[in-house]
Amino acid sequence: MSKVVKFGGSSLASAEQFKKVGDIIRSDADRRYVVPSAPGKRFKEDTKVTDMLYACYDLAKEGRGFKKELEAIKKRYEEIIAGLGLKLTLDEEFAVIEKNFREKAGSNYAASRGEYLNGIIMAAYLGYEFVDAATVIFFDENGDFDARRTNDILSERLSQSRKAVIPGFYGALPDKTIKTFSRGGSDVTGSIVAKAVKADVYENWTDVSGFLIADPRIIKNPEGIEVITYRELRELSYMGATVLHEDAIFPVRQEGIPINIRNTNAPDDDGTWIVGSTCQKSKYVITGIAGKKGFCSINIEKDMMNSEIGFGRKVLQAFEENGISFEHVPSGIDTMTVFVHQDEFMHKEQKVVAGLHRLAQPDSIDIEADLALIAVVGRGMKATRGTAGRIFSALAHSNVNVKMIDQGSSELNIIIGVANEDFEAAIKAIYDIFVITKL
Ligand code: ASP
Repeated sequence: MSKVVKFGGSSLASAEQFKKVGDIIRSDADRRYVVPSAPGKRFKEDTKVTDMLYACYDLAKEGRGFKKELEAIKKRYEEIIAGLGLKLTLDEEFAVIEKNFREKAGSNYAASRGEYLNGIIMAAYLGYEFVDAATVIFFDENGDFDARRTNDILSERLSQSRKAVIPGFYGALPDKTIKTFSRGGSDVTGSIVAKAVKADVYENWTDVSGFLIADPRIIKNPEGIEVITYRELRELSYMGATVLHEDAIFPVRQEGIPINIRNTNAPDDDGTWIVGSTCQKSKYVITGIAGKKGFCSINIEKDMMNSEIGFGRKVLQAFEENGISFEHVPSGIDTMTVFVHQDEFMHKEQKVVAGLHRLAQPDSIDIEADLALIAVVGRGMKATRGTAGRIFSALAHSNVNVKMIDQGSSELNIIIGVANEDFEAAIKAIYDIFVITKL
């Protein structure tokens, strides 16, 4: 059996955190492939090493002095090394980094050194082999991740290593220049490694015990989610729930490898299991609630719209021509409404309106701003009657006016549009009805 374990920045921010990680890895011999992030924040006002590296490189790029800033980064690592009692020096590594910074090796290279150096320390601490991600994770000439080449070379390389550390977040372009994934990308590396070794599980260790049913900034101590499907997770992440990088799902999903989100600071908690499909019912009818503020609705009315073939296409064309993507398009008999992100739409508003008049010749166009969308997600909804009814009576009791309803044909989610100012009250009402009162 083999497990791939990825540790986030806060799990590796100090020697003390490293020790917890060491204990977790040593407690299970199947935890054979380790993907570390760069050291994160040790306390709230602290700076992540990745951000220190970006800032330091900005100075180098402008031809300004950066010695002090690089020293501060080196000190972060030296504290970890000393705290772990390791006989390891990064002097040579830092000399190379300094030289490359002077030669303007690029901000991707700079940022990647955070995970690279942490990987070296981690490998020394565990007695695992160090495999530089630049030799096994590849991007193509367009800068897109090269899944096939990576999988071939990475699986071959790791078949020769029983226990290895592969730093997260970066890989190499065909000309060997370093390229990183987007921020939080070590999650993606973990998933790629799990696929390559056909792991039994991809454990993603962070500083929370998995996904929560709702945002803890809105709901005090919300309950955790025990099991969630990839599809449910995708719906919730899209609507703003964050814990895992969005792209981390795809590699393991293809192989049917489950992801287990765990908490380094509470290793006995089961965390959340993310799976392809499950017969395990979620504890409540809904699995989770997420949402975002800042949408606009453009309501288009035209008599006899329902019988005009191509009307919908013409409406959407006006948005497409202006490079605006739409979120939802609920329609009535003589009306069609398009939901868009307010910040994308605002400065193109009059162009879109002109386009709508030109293309679709509507009777009227009415725009409403400052709206929020809330997704109520759950595989349990399909088999349960009255879910929508419960949601809307809860919202009515909380004096929340519903502006839009959209139930996906998968019956996996119900999307509700409300005014921005009703956002928090709406989430509380929905959480309350399904989780607290379990009506
Ligand atoms: N260290 C990188 C970041 O801060 C990547 C990661 O932690 O996953 O975004």
